[in-house]
Amino acid sequence: MNDPRIIVALDYSNPQDALDLSIKLDPGLCRLKVGKELFTAAGPVIVEKLQNQGFQIFLDLKYHDIPNTVASACKVAAQSLGVWMLNVHAMGGRKMLMAAREAISQSQTKLIAVTLLTSMDQHDVTELGWKHTPQQIVSSLAQLTYECGLDGVVCSAQEARLLRTQLGADFCLVTPGIRLQSDNTNDQKRITTPRQAISDGASYLVIGRPITQARDPLATLQLILQNI
Ligand code: C5P
Repeated sequence: MNDPRIIVALDYSNPQDALDLSIKLDPGLCRLKVGKELFTAAGPVIVEKLQNQGFQIFLDLKYHDIPNTVASACKVAAQSLGVWMLNVHAMGGRKMLMAAREAISQSQTKLIAVTLLTSMDQHDVTELGWKHTPQQIVSSLAQLTYECGLDGVVCSAQEARLLRTQLGADFCLVTPGIRLQSDNTNDQKRITTPRQAISDGASYLVIGRPITQARDPLATLQLILQNI
């Protein structure tokens, strides 16, 4: 089956804006990411509507709670919503990660984990009382995610090369913070071009504003696909 590498982030508070954008895109060329903003505004029905247009959905709700609660939420997302991919926080620890994995083991849904939020730097980490560098924390949380049998992690493209080497070819690396050479960087500080991210080992690229705010979103998507 066709396995599009681009996941377009639908960061909208108005469900109609998300639907208007989606009809300009092609499910053969990309998947869509529904995150906290759109999900909170529109509820699970938005996932169903997008799936009815043929899109596979990455549900980016970053579950982080006690193992039983996270496992139950993952089960509903996989079984009732039938999403292609969903995520949890690796910070929830081994028991939570294993419970999440176990809860969706009968489904095709991919389960990935967020390691350290890319918004956090050394100062933030030190303030929390952690003794390691952000890179060490990313590496050990990704290792834990791998050991718990999850499919992959969300990471910055800058971390992809390290994690690809550490965890091998089959581990799924999903990278946001992607910008075309010509783009405004918006609020993303550490950015990478699509081609660079793929060559550094990214499996899937999460791209929001460069596509959603383009005058012609489909043409921009096609241009990115040509570049990679
Ligand atoms: O518009 P832009 O391309 O910056 O959107 C990136 C998407 O990836 C947003 O939905 C954002 O929440 C998400 N994301 C991110 N950085 C992370 C994790 C997720 O930008 N570390």
